[in-house]
Amino acid sequence: MKEKSNKNVLGRFAPSPTGPLHLGSLVTALASFLDVKSENGKLWLRIEDSDSQRSKPNFIGLIKQQLVDHGIAWDVWPNLAHERAGVIYQSERQHIYSHFLHYLSTLDRTFLCKCTRKSLSRTNHFIEYLESGEKRYPQICRDRKSVCLSKEQTLRFKSTNRDDFVIRRLTTGDFSYAFTVVIDDYLQGVTRVVRGDDLKFTIERNRQVQAILGFPFPTILHVPVVRDSNGRKLSKTDEHSKLRGGKFIKKQITQSWTHLRKNMPSSWIEKVTPTYENYFF
Ligand code: GLU
Repeated sequence: MKEKSNKNVLGRFAPSPTGPLHLGSLVTALASFLDVKSENGKLWLRIEDSDSQRSKPNFIGLIKQQLVDHGIAWDVWPNLAHERAGVIYQSERQHIYSHFLHYLSTLDRTFLCKCTRKSLSRTNHFIEYLESGEKRYPQICRDRKSVCLSKEQTLRFKSTNRDDFVIRRLTTGDFSYAFTVVIDDYLQGVTRVVRGDDLKFTIERNRQVQAILGFPFPTILHVPVVRDSNGRKLSKTDEHSKLRGGKFIKKQITQSWTHLRKNMPSSWIEKVTPTYENYFF
């Protein structure tokens, strides 16, 4: 008998095509897949190519192929052109992000900022560090009385916790991850976010935007990132973290599962084990 799909459980895997998937991203993909499939939910694939400088179109096909090769199938997001294969691309959703940005601006929750990375590295303003190790923006431009449009660099979110993060880079027109992820998770009805714990620091940013837009907070599950023997997070350029095809596929799935079993809460492992065994043994 065909299992009934649980419409209430919707997850997504949202890679940035700045390189092919590596062992670390395979772990997150597997976790996202098992998380929703263990409850007969759906998994969307969303290509987070909103960073126009770092995203490379040639990685998109490769990422999709790597997922398919490793048995991680996504569900089809409806009403897209056939060649989109049910996959959402952030680079095609600028008009949607602009719409929500405009709304935030009408609520006076954005401000223009002329600071560049360079000017911030040289500023005399006191710099605090966020828990993530990121610098907290020292609010230099937040209460300016006048702006000079040709000199502005970014649009920032006016937060209530002094973490005024970038929503849009005016030099490229790109929207930031902290903003787009909130809009897309909401519009795709996502109830479960499974992502690497290197993104934990964005929770507060996400919630600030969700709260003001009246969006529900999805459940977030952070997967401890895979590190090399020196404790460094695997990077897309590391030779030894590259995924391989053919006979290596099974081994890579097993390695990913072993990482999850070692690092995820036991109640979650118990929940997803039957699904893992069903799909991957
Ligand atoms: N696009 C992000 C990345 O590839 C993941 C974002 C997410 O899962 O929320 O690191």
